[in-house]
Amino acid sequence: MPAIRQELFREIPAVDRLLATERLQQLSAEYPRTLILKAINLVLDDLRTRIQSGEIEGGIQLGPDLVSIMVMEELKIISRPSLRPVINATGVVIHTNLGRSILAEKVLKKFTLLSGGYSNLEYDLEKGVRGSRYSHVEDILKDLTGAEAAMVVNNNAAAVLVSLETLARGRQVVVSRGQLVEIGGSFRIPDVMRKSGARMVEVGATNKTHLRDYEEVIGPETALLLKVHRSNFELVGFTEEVSLSELADLGRRNGIPVMEDLGSGSLVDFSKYGLTKEPTVQDSLSQGASLVTFSGDKMLGGPQAGIILGQKELVEAIKKNQLSRALRIDKLTLLALEETLRLYRDERVAVKEIPTLRMICQTQRSLAGKADRLLKLIGRLKCDNFSIELITGSSKVGGGSLPLQELPSRLVALIPGKLSLQAMETWLRAHDPSIITRLEKERVLLDVRTVQEKEMKTVARVIKDLAQQA
Ligand SMILES: *Cc1c(COP(=O)(O)O)cnc(C)c1O
Repeated sequence: MPAIRQELFREIPAVDRLLATERLQQLSAEYPRTLILKAINLVLDDLRTRIQSGEIEGGIQLGPDLVSIMVMEELKIISRPSLRPVINATGVVIHTNLGRSILAEKVLKKFTLLSGGYSNLEYDLEKGVRGSRYSHVEDILKDLTGAEAAMVVNNNAAAVLVSLETLARGRQVVVSRGQLVEIGGSFRIPDVMRKSGARMVEVGATNKTHLRDYEEVIGPETALLLKVHRSNFELVGFTEEVSLSELADLGRRNGIPVMEDLGSGSLVDFSKYGLTKEPTVQDSLSQGASLVTFSGDKMLGGPQAGIILGQKELVEAIKKNQLSRALRIDKLTLLALEETLRLYRDERVAVKEIPTLRMICQTQRSLAGKADRLLKLIGRLKCDNFSIELITGSSKVGGGSLPLQELPSRLVALIPGKLSLQAMETWLRAHDPSIITRLEKERVLLDVRTVQEKEMKTVARVIKDLAQQA
C-alpha cells in the first residue's frame, strides 16, 4: 500500500475521539447515542472505501474536526423520516407513485380533532350500543349515487377481491377478453379472480365481444357477469363491446348479478368541464349494475379506499364476509372519506375544494396566471447554468383515468446550459423538499397545474439556488 494511503488510514479518528468532540457532545442532547454511533460508522466506512479506491488522496486533514462535521451531516440525513413531502411538478394529477390524491383543506382540519381523541367509530351514540363503522359513510354514499346499499374497504383491489369471493367463490365469473387489465402495482384481473376462488370464463376476442358471447357460456355455474373499466389503456380501430345496460339486461333475464369494476369511478360528469365523457358511478348504477366498485383516491379525490355500492342483499353478504374484516378501512381513512364525500353534496364546492378535481378542472387562464407568477417569483437569472422559458404543453389526469386525455397546460421549461438535463433533474429530486419534474424534448419541465399555491415560493427559491450551483 502506498505510504500516503497508510498515512490517511492512520489519520482517521477513532470513534471515542469523535464522540468526545464538542460538536458531537452537543448533538448527544438532540440525537440518541445509537443513531450517533450509526452515523459515525457510516462516515468512517465511507472514508475507508474512498481512501482505498484512491478517491481521497493526500492534502486533506482527516482530523476529528472535519470528520465530526461529516458525522453531523450524516446524522441529519439518517434521522430524516423516510416518508417525506415532495412537490409534484410532473403535471400528472393522480400520480400513484406520489400518493395519488391530495386531501382537501377542510378534510385535513378534521384530522387533529379525531385522531387525538376517541370517537364513535363503532358506537351507536343514540342507543349506547355497538355500532357499525360503515354507517358513517353509508347514507351519504347512497344519497350521492342513488345506490341501495354501500360499504367501504381498504382499497379498490380489496373491494374487487372481497366482492368476487363473496359472490362467486367456487363458481364462474364471465368477463370479456378486452377487459383483462393490469393496473400498475400488480393488480391483474385474472390473478385477483384466482385469489378469490372464482373461476374466470373469458369471452369474446381482444378487440370485439358480442352479447351472444356472454349468452353462450351462461349456465348453472355462472355466478356473476363482470365488466372492468379499461382504466389505463384504450381500444381503438375495429372494436365492439357490450354496453353495461345490455349486460344488466342479460343478467336480469338469467337471474345473475352484474358487477362493474369502475376503477377510478367519478361522481362528477367531467364532460361539463371540457373533458372526455366518462360514465359516472351514478350512470353505472342507473344502467343496472348490481354492484359497482371504485377507488377512493383516484377521480374521487379522497383517501385510499375501496367503495362498494349496489343491491342491498349483495352488499350485506359482502359485509358479513370474514375477508371484509381483514380488509377493513382504518378510522382516519374513514374520516377523510366522509369529509371528502360531504364536499360532494354541492358539486360546485367539490370542484373548488377537492384538490384533484380543482387541478383537473383548472382553466387555461388560471394556469397561465400561475405560470406567470412563478416566473416572476424566480426573477431574472444571472447565470449560464440553464435558461428558462414558458411553454405550452399538456398535463395528464393519471391514476389510470382518461389515459388519452390531454389537459392543455403552461409549463416552466429549463433549457440546459452548463448543467445537463440529467444533472438538473437529479438535483431538483435530491433537494429537500424534492421537486419531481419531467424530461421532454431536451428540457426539464415543471407543470404548474400540479404545483400547489403554497409551494410556489419554494419552487422559485429552489430554481434560483440551482442557478447558483457551481
Ligand atoms: C385502479 C384500479 C383498481 C385498483 O384500485 P386500488 O384502489 O389501487 O386498489 C382496480 N381496478 C381498476 C379497473 C382500476 O383502475
